[in-house]
Amino acid sequence: MNDEQVRAWRWECLAERLLEKMKKRGFNALYAPTEAAAKEAVLSLTPATGVLALLGSQTMNRIGVFETLRQSGRELVDHATQTQGLSPAEAHQYRRRVFTAEAMLASANAIDYEGRLYNIDGVGNRVAPMIYGPDKVILAVGLNKVVRDPAEAWLRARQVAAPLNAKRLSRPTPCVKSGRCHDCQLETSICNYFTIIDRSNPVGRLNVVLIGQDVGY
Ligand code: SF4
Repeated sequence: MNDEQVRAWRWECLAERLLEKMKKRGFNALYAPTEAAAKEAVLSLTPATGVLALLGSQTMNRIGVFETLRQSGRELVDHATQTQGLSPAEAHQYRRRVFTAEAMLASANAIDYEGRLYNIDGVGNRVAPMIYGPDKVILAVGLNKVVRDPAEAWLRARQVAAPLNAKRLSRPTPCVKSGRCHDCQLETSICNYFTIIDRSNPVGRLNVVLIGQDVGY
């Protein structure tokens, strides 16, 4: 076996364990060993009709799902590209449309060994509809986001995902200078809502494509 094959074997072992755990938690979870397979899996889960909501996800961007959907002519709720020029009140109203979309597509900041999902959100427009909103939620998550337990999950979300997202968004927060969280408690913080999804209710509402690659943060 070469290095690539050995790494792929490790991802598969991890995915096998997680799929079993997540199934017991009501998630419809599946494994895609490559980014191309993940894109295909996400698109096959996506409803053929109705409005789709795209929520901030570098993973979905990286595997090409968002770009494909933006070029598809489908009706989207896509605040990343559609809220420029809107007043804060107008952007707020636009974001609320996620709740009535047919499906939403996003990612998670961490998954623990028991298959629980962890997220930090600034506004709540990503985590709130993930919990109660569209009938279908589709998440793409790289196995690089898998951690042992809740403590490690929050460490990852707080010290890895959040500073990188703040940097990407050029937020005026201390983490964009140091690369680590300072628990800033600023109005400009992107870390306001911390959620754990323990189960999918109803069963199968949350669909999770686990990707055997280091993708997203
Ligand atoms: S410094 Fe503030 S914005 Fe940055 S990761 Fe910490 S809480 Fe979030």
